[in-house]
Amino acid sequence: MATVIPLTDLRAAPPATAREAFIRDATRAPRADGVALVDTRNRPLHDLRISVTDRCNFRCVYCMPKDVYGRDFPFLPHAALLTFEEITRVARIFVGHGVRKIRLTGGEPLLRKNLERLIHMLASLGDIDLTLTTNGALLGRKARALRDAGLRRVTVSLDALDDPTFRAMNDVDFPVRRVLDGIDAAHAAGFSPIKINAVVKRGLNEHAIVPLARHFRGSGHIVRFIEYMDVGHTNGWRMNDVVPAAEIVETIDRAFPLDPIEPNYAGEVAQRWRYRDNHQEVGVIASVTQAFCRDCTRARLSTDGKLYTCLFADAGYDVRMLLRDGFDDAEIGNAIAAIWRLRADRYSEIRAANTPREKRIEMSYIGG
Ligand code: SF4
Repeated sequence: MATVIPLTDLRAAPPATAREAFIRDATRAPRADGVALVDTRNRPLHDLRISVTDRCNFRCVYCMPKDVYGRDFPFLPHAALLTFEEITRVARIFVGHGVRKIRLTGGEPLLRKNLERLIHMLASLGDIDLTLTTNGALLGRKARALRDAGLRRVTVSLDALDDPTFRAMNDVDFPVRRVLDGIDAAHAAGFSPIKINAVVKRGLNEHAIVPLARHFRGSGHIVRFIEYMDVGHTNGWRMNDVVPAAEIVETIDRAFPLDPIEPNYAGEVAQRWRYRDNHQEVGVIASVTQAFCRDCTRARLSTDGKLYTCLFADAGYDVRMLLRDGFDDAEIGNAIAAIWRLRADRYSEIRAANTPREKRIEMSYIGG
C-alpha cells in the first residue's frame, strides 16, 4: 500500500523531514499570487484527475483482476470518500493554481450516486475542460444528464469489438453491444468527438486493433490505443506483454495508411495520427516505450482525498485531513503549491530502476 504523508502535523509536531518543513512553511506563508507554479522540471500544474470512487462494475484483467478484487475486497467506506462539496473546494483551489482541465475517473465514476450534481458544481468553477473516463456500461442511461449538468467531453474504454475478447478482458461477461449503445447515446446527447481508449495486451487483444480502427475510422470518434502499463502491483505486468506503440501504428498502417499529425498542446498524452484517405484521427499512448514525463502536467486526487503527483506514485499527501481539520483555502492552497514545487516525478523515463511495485498505488484507486 502506498505511503501517506500526513499534513495535519503542520500545526502541531515539528516536521519529520525537510520536505514536510518546506510544506509546513509554505502553508503558513502568504499566498504568492502571480508566481507561476511549476515543479522542479518546470512543468506547470494544468490537469487534475479526480477519482470519485474506488469501485467498479468491471474486473478488467490489466487493472482490477478478479482474484484480487473479489467479493471481500475492502473497498473504501462511504465516510472515507470526499464529499462533492470537498471535491469542489479542492478543485477550486487547483483552478486557482492554474488547472484548466479536470478529468473525473474511478474505479468507474458513473457508479458514484448523483454524479451529475458534482459535475454541475465543478462546471460552475469557470472555463474548465471538464471531462470523464468511463467503461461505458452505464453511459446509455446517464449520457443526457451528464451533458445537461455541464460535462464537456467523455472518454470511453473499449478494448475489443468481438464479444469473446471483450468479455474476457472485462471479466464480468459484459457485452460489447451495450458499450457501443452507450457511445451512441453520448453522441446523441452532444458529446463529440468521443475518445475511445483501448489497452492492448499481447496475447489477449492485439487482434482487436484493426477491427477497432475499422469500426471507428469513419465515425468522427477518436480511438487511442494504450500500451499496457505496470501501474500498481496486482496486474502481473511483464514487459513481454506490452505491444509497443510503434507496432500498433504499423499494424494499423498496413490496413489503413497513416500520417503523423502535430499534438494539440504540449503535454498531450496521445501521439496523433490520421488516416491518409479520410483524415480521421487515431492515437497511441506510449507510456512504456516512449515516455512523456517531460511535459507531464497532471496531478491526481484519490477518492479519499490523497494527492498524488504521478500515476506510478508510492506516496500521497493527505489533503482530506487539511479539509476536515479546519485549514482554510489559503493554507490548503499553499500546501498544494509546495507539494507541486517539490515534484520531480518521471517514472516512465526511469522505469527500470524503480520503486518496488508493492508500494505503488493501484489504477482502480487513482484512475488513469
Ligand atoms: S510516469 Fe508519472 S510523471 Fe511520467 S507521464 Fe506518467 S504520471 Fe507523468
